[in-house]
Amino acid sequence: MTDSQQPGSRKLLKRLRATLAEPGEGQERLDRITSLIAGELGADVCSIYLFRDSDTLELCATEGLKQEAVHQTRMRLGEGLVGRVALRTSPINTADAPSERGFRYMAETGEERYSAFLGVPIQRLGERLGVLVMQGREAKAYSDDEVYGLEVVAMVLAEMAELGVFQSSADPAAHRHKQPVMFRGTSGQDGAAEGRVYLHEPRVLVTNPIADDSEVERLRLREAVDKLRYSVDEMLSSAPLGDGEQRNVLEAYRMFANSKGWLKRMEQDIERGLSAEAAVEKEQSSARARMEQVPDAYLRERLQDLDDISNRLLRLLTGQGQDDGSEMPEHPVLVARNIGPGELLAYGRKLRAIVLEDGSVGSHAAIVARALAIPLVIHARRITTEALNGDKVLVDGDHGIVHLRPEDSVAHAFEDKIAMRAKAVERYSSIRDLPATDKSGTTIALHMNAGLMADLPSLPSSGAEGVGLFRTELQFLVRNSVPRRGELAALYSRVLDAAQGKRVVFRTLDIGSDKVLPYMKPQDEPNPAMGWRAIRVGLDKPGVMRMQLQALIRASSGRPLSVMFPFVAQLSEFTEARDRLMREIDREDRLGRPLPESVEVGAMLETPSLAYAPEIFFEQADFISIGGNDLKQFFFAADRENERVRNRYDCLNVSFLSFLEWINMRCVNTGTPVSFCGEDAGRPLEAVCFAAIGLRSLSMRPASIGAVKSLLRRIDLSELRHVIEKARHDGHQSVRPVVESWLLDNTDPES
Ligand code: PEP
Ligand code: MG
Repeated sequence: MTDSQQPGSRKLLKRLRATLAEPGEGQERLDRITSLIAGELGADVCSIYLFRDSDTLELCATEGLKQEAVHQTRMRLGEGLVGRVALRTSPINTADAPSERGFRYMAETGEERYSAFLGVPIQRLGERLGVLVMQGREAKAYSDDEVYGLEVVAMVLAEMAELGVFQSSADPAAHRHKQPVMFRGTSGQDGAAEGRVYLHEPRVLVTNPIADDSEVERLRLREAVDKLRYSVDEMLSSAPLGDGEQRNVLEAYRMFANSKGWLKRMEQDIERGLSAEAAVEKEQSSARARMEQVPDAYLRERLQDLDDISNRLLRLLTGQGQDDGSEMPEHPVLVARNIGPGELLAYGRKLRAIVLEDGSVGSHAAIVARALAIPLVIHARRITTEALNGDKVLVDGDHGIVHLRPEDSVAHAFEDKIAMRAKAVERYSSIRDLPATDKSGTTIALHMNAGLMADLPSLPSSGAEGVGLFRTELQFLVRNSVPRRGELAALYSRVLDAAQGKRVVFRTLDIGSDKVLPYMKPQDEPNPAMGWRAIRVGLDKPGVMRMQLQALIRASSGRPLSVMFPFVAQLSEFTEARDRLMREIDREDRLGRPLPESVEVGAMLETPSLAYAPEIFFEQADFISIGGNDLKQFFFAADRENERVRNRYDCLNVSFLSFLEWINMRCVNTGTPVSFCGEDAGRPLEAVCFAAIGLRSLSMRPASIGAVKSLLRRIDLSELRHVIEKARHDGHQSVRPVVESWLLDNTDPES
């Protein structure tokens, strides 16, 4: 394409660069830019609107509209045509703006004289920065070429904004990446931490958005794309054949790397005057913008692949971010859009906290973060675009709040909170070897939940009596292929070694629902939590369960073996699963292999149905573990994964407490040991209430044991029982308020 075929856009970009290079304040630059664009593109009006805060756009410079309106005219996201361009992150091009849906008349601008309107978003990697607008008196729609040309200019403006070119005190975008920002997300794992941002995928900074020589840029792009194709092919040939997930991702990468459309679009942008990196980023930005709008999970994943591959290409072009991990700051807080469980495990306990833009409470990454006891906040929208490597950050995992570059006063208050926690931990270590006995002499057995080998070191330090729940699926979730029996046996054996004779209750695979194995064909179920999961999968597809049972038997040779089956809803499921375990033991015996010293087989009570199972179930089960997380979701019909409802019902609601009491009573009647192992057991107030209604064994995150034990030792459970009974009698919905105030008045100070 020659310059004469390419109306002005390349020339415009070059002049834009010259204009930006001239000295001046941010406002002067914005003014010069609008008059340059209006002049070069022959528009009556050119205006730049920038975000003042995340919801408000402000007219920051204009050529053609009344100057008095600058910094006065504002609109909310979605309001008027400009607000709609920003909201949809796509252009609006109309010949007759006043009759367009959503048009808002702004008298102070004098825009009633203009009919044609073209607005394009100024965005960078999914971050909305503002809107660039062209208007004309003549009622005409702009050509595709003009739309495209303005988008290219908007792209350059976005890069310039990122580099701080427009910064001045009057500019709302001033001090970006410097000001304090608070993010309100969702708690994925409790805990508070202070540290420095460590971006999982550092931002690539494009310092030269405008090309000097388009031919050189085109060659650079081609070369980088060739390298990219080569590296994807390499990765594909070395990816294990059985690894379906990884291959799928790589195949998608290959598809994009070879996509003619992708390359063509980027080359067109280069023709219009962008540098190779800016062209890649322009494509990436529109993929991110589409990602926010696409509801279909499959398409979103493909757009995510396109985003990842664009990052790789940018790194190849700029040479930035190749040496991952080498500059990890002290006290790193990992910030990412999302992260896989395997990657998270590789970082391990080095991390102080984790903040994700996406993710869900039940995601594999969240499960690993919980297992590692690292505070986690999810749904911290836009943090990856706001945060820079090394920024100070405070993470409040209890409330799902993140303070980026906090004000001193916030930082001081937060530091006090962390110090108080540290003091409490110190206090708990002094009672670590004492029993969890209340003032009336009742002792509660406190166990810990685990799921990774990495958890086991907490066993002696937490003061737990043993592992009340070992979630075996974590080992399956963090891998890309089914583990082999030998590997599993070795792992379970190491777990038992690390437990040094303390009891470990292995729960067989609980997959399905939110826990989908990377190599398992996802089931398209309308209600996965009530679908084909846990013991149901185990019984229908006996191969994996059998392999796991054999591994458990071999691991515990000569030692006691405790196995429990998850999500048992009726007696026959328990007896069938137990028979299979017994058959495997017989088989091992026939093969002359060493057997466990003793075997106990339990069931998880996670559906209300099992609470009403025939007496014989309670007689046959060697022990029962109440899976409070699932039981509560089915009791209240409130999805534990759904943010809207998951905290709607209190587990100290008298109905639920009475139900737990009923389960406990049935177990007491048959002499069946019963424990509670849902997350609620790890909250001191809940834990003491469970103990007060009769439960004598609780299993929780290791970090919670100290706090629960400390409270138990400072109260009288029989008095608390009376408080609960009275609240129930008085018609309270939840016993929480009365228990809270009783605890305030009746708890000995911590020693
Ligand atoms: C439960 O449901 O309470 C439980 C402990 O199991 P999970 O959280 O793994 O489903
Ligand atoms: Mg469960």
